[in-house]
Amino acid sequence: MAIKEILKLGNPELFKACKKVEKLDSNETLQTIQDLKDTLQNFQKINGFGRAIAAPQIGIIERIIFVDFPTENLFGPLINPKIVWQSQEKIQLWDDCFSFPELLVKVERAKEIKVEYSTPFGEVASISAKNDFSELLQHEIDHLDGILSVQRAIGGTAFALRSEWKKLGKNGSS
Ligand SMILES: [Zn+2]
Repeated sequence: MAIKEILKLGNPELFKACKKVEKLDSNETLQTIQDLKDTLQNFQKINGFGRAIAAPQIGIIERIIFVDFPTENLFGPLINPKIVWQSQEKIQLWDDCFSFPELLVKVERAKEIKVEYSTPFGEVASISAKNDFSELLQHEIDHLDGILSVQRAIGGTAFALRSEWKKLGKNGSS
């Protein structure tokens, strides 16, 4: 059990492109997965929201995300996830991030995507996602490329503090 500190906006580590994981079942990889799970669950406990975390957010510059998305029956790590297809159709929504939990950013994303990834057991799996689940996976995969949602803002007015955003009555994402 290791709850890690979540790096915050401004930390240069968050802008680094992550390395591909070569040894899926190494002790280091399994420890990273455990730390991501523990840190995600701790964040959920404290904040009452949160559906995924990416390894660079705990300072590990490797291509691993951990997702907890009950309505899609997904709870676990995605190693080396890659978007292999995306719809032309786009959606716009307000995105949030553990690295700046008080700030919402309006972004545009592909409405539907297909993602391939590896499991710690060496299997290659794929998952199709649409709407907010699609947005969530695009957000997390962006983290692995060193891209934050603030870089995806659809304009200079696409920012809201959570306290103000709640007054707008909009739905959140991650
Ligand atoms: Zn994030």
